[in-house]
Amino acid sequence: MELRIGWLYPTLMSTYGDRGNVICLQQRCQWREITATVVPLDRQAEADLFKNVDIIVGGGAQDRQQEIVMRDLQGAKAENFRQRIEAGIPGVFTCGSPQLLGKYYEPALGQRIEGLGLLDLETKHPGINASRCIGNVVFELTASPLAEELREMLGKTPIALGFENHGGRTYLGNVSPLGKVIKGYGNNGEDGWEGAFYRHAIATYSHGPLLPKNPFLADWLIQTALKEKYQTPISLTKLDDSLALQARQAMFNRLELSSLVKNP
Ligand code: GLN
Repeated sequence: MELRIGWLYPTLMSTYGDRGNVICLQQRCQWREITATVVPLDRQAEADLFKNVDIIVGGGAQDRQQEIVMRDLQGAKAENFRQRIEAGIPGVFTCGSPQLLGKYYEPALGQRIEGLGLLDLETKHPGINASRCIGNVVFELTASPLAEELREMLGKTPIALGFENHGGRTYLGNVSPLGKVIKGYGNNGEDGWEGAFYRHAIATYSHGPLLPKNPFLADWLIQTALKEKYQTPISLTKLDDSLALQARQAMFNRLELSSLVKNP
């Protein structure tokens, strides 16, 4: 079996270690003898490359880089990207990426950046004097059917851990939130929602990077990608995640959430 991991603009969009999501997916495939090829979807990439990927990963970016990306992500590239997500391939998009998958992002300074409109959400930065949303974030995954599938996989409520650092505040329209904030700001620090979930695309403010901190999400992405590609349900061999689980437990303890999350 083989998966092609499309990585959006690696040199422009990888803040706070988001490349760790790509490394995590590739490594968890390799441990299971699934060939995983990383395909950079950047300014040099032909539009057709966007058609030929099985998972898409997009990291965070600063406002300036987001603008450069959106000048390039137009026409056939944007259309092929949209078609792959609509067709159901999974993806994980962090911070600056979901802002660009939404309707628009209004930066602290400068012009509004029009997004792809794939997700019904809007993001506005309240200005250079507003404080940023920074810190560890913990949220319960609630989006359907993701939450049910994860609950079945884990045998318990799926809780994600991460780290957020954003100025933009995101407000959801007609799209499911990814989860409910337990600790941190999430989309805007007001309504208690974190991220968004559409088709099989996970949009989140959570860096960390997200997947090594929450390996069950990496496995959900791999499993979904294989199911979509080979059109048959595939169950993954279990890996030894004891180190990741210990790290999760340490973080839950530090955040004084150990009573809430009994089993990391
Ligand atoms: N530039 C965006 C913001 O500050 C995204 C930041 C990021 O991706 N970490 O809201």
